[in-house]
Amino acid sequence: MYHQTEEAPPKGAPMRGLVVAPETLRRHMGALARLGYRGLSMSGLEPYLRGEKRGKVFGITFDDGYENNLIHALPVLTHFGFSSTCYVVAGMVGQTNRWDAEKGIAQIPLMDAEQLQSWVNAGQEVGSHTVSHAMLATLNAEQQAAEIQQSKVMLESMVQQPGGVRHFCYPYGSLNEASVTAVRTAGYATATTTERGRVVLNGALDVLRLPRVLVSRTTAWPQLVWKCMTAYEDERSSRYAK
Ligand SMILES: [Zn+2]
Repeated sequence: MYHQTEEAPPKGAPMRGLVVAPETLRRHMGALARLGYRGLSMSGLEPYLRGEKRGKVFGITFDDGYENNLIHALPVLTHFGFSSTCYVVAGMVGQTNRWDAEKGIAQIPLMDAEQLQSWVNAGQEVGSHTVSHAMLATLNAEQQAAEIQQSKVMLESMVQQPGGVRHFCYPYGSLNEASVTAVRTAGYATATTTERGRVVLNGALDVLRLPRVLVSRTTAWPQLVWKCMTAYEDERSSRYAK
């Protein structure tokens, strides 16, 4: 789970930890590539999630749709032949992360429709992150369904992508039963949370509540390898908390 790919903002800037330097991303991808792993978008991961394919793969996601991912992450992904999914806030395409403004978080450009198409044409994927970066669990079922369905329709009208927009990410990791029902009804194939952990193929796997491994500015490549190859993250997941 990545957010922004950019040089670090000044010390003390809120949410600075979610800005990963391009060189750090390159080291992360390089380390996993050297170990024989291939980075995939959520669509690329689907057959592995269904147990139809086996192999050394990991999913790469970028939340929010920042332009700096097109500028800095795309060349890295292209270099390694990896694909990824960028979860876009459908109602803020071409704007900035306005949902963060009142928390004093720096306003950063988000990709516009043309840039999203360039992202897709370069082999990457667009997923949905609602219309307004909504905190879904605070909304009623009808409002949630609107955020979840409309964002899919809006993004599909903006971006031509094989199979349409099939993957969803819950903003702030906020969800409840109504969110999951709406995601299923809207026809998404997968949905990711901010729950920590790796996806384990067992009877309990819920593809509409997938855990992820957080990657921050200070995550060094050996640490990322550790997070991906060991049960470290799984053990920190609240799913296993007593
Ligand atoms: Zn987000």
